[in-house]
Amino acid sequence: MSLVAPQKALPFSSRGICFVISAPSGAGKSTIANALRASQANLHNSISVTTRKPRPGEVDGIHYHFLTQEKFEQQAAEGALLEWAMVFGRGYGTPRAPVESNLAAGKDMIFDIDWQGHRQIRKALPNDVVSIFILPPSLQELERRLTARAADKPEEIAKRMAAAKDEISHWHEFDYIVVNNRLDGAIQEVESILRTERLRISRQNGLEQFIAGFES
Ligand code: ADP
Ligand code: 5GP
Repeated sequence: MSLVAPQKALPFSSRGICFVISAPSGAGKSTIANALRASQANLHNSISVTTRKPRPGEVDGIHYHFLTQEKFEQQAAEGALLEWAMVFGRGYGTPRAPVESNLAAGKDMIFDIDWQGHRQIRKALPNDVVSIFILPPSLQELERRLTARAADKPEEIAKRMAAAKDEISHWHEFDYIVVNNRLDGAIQEVESILRTERLRISRQNGLEQFIAGFES
């Protein structure tokens, strides 16, 4: 016999979170974000638009919406992007419509965007953003990871290493810092931030009615 009384479903739902993960390129944010997407069924992905070319294995509409420069500029001008920025000389941006519909439905979303995008999205949605900055254990390890990923040419890796210190200089604009030394530890830390933020009083709709039930 179970000693735990069966629980009724609680009568309140959580407001959606915009979970932003940023890092210098190669620190491991895509790896961590993918692990989170796999373990958190209710975390919806924001699929960015970009003018960069697909890497081997990248699929249009899954990893990015790959756009021409002309189409990107058109979307930015029409206000179809919630935020956009030039990163490593290419355009990147977050489509506005899916964010608005997911937030309205109380669904959490994950954004893999740079510090410029984080700044804009925080300004647009100040109550909904929770942000994490991922650091590598060292710049040497960052370069090793960029090289081991074997996704970019040496000149592209050099561009990303040159930009790393500038990206890192924005660390204080974020809510949390996670150092991605051991991957499993970093994933656990990021998961625990998400779990904790879901419990914030401001995100739990219907708490007042629920607690009023204790007083009647
Ligand atoms: P980002 O999305 O930040 O550019 P990735 O997630 O693509 O970085 O990671 C860059 C490379 O580093 C990948 O080859 C990935 O497998 C590897 N990597 C990620 N985290 C770790 C870690 N903690 N230890 C060692 N290698 C890692
Ligand atoms: P990559 O080319 O490695 O996929 O991404 C390069 C950089 O662009 C990363 O720092 C990534 O976070 C950033 N990025 C990806 N999508 C967006 C986006 O929609 N907006 C902004 N501002 N940055 C993005």
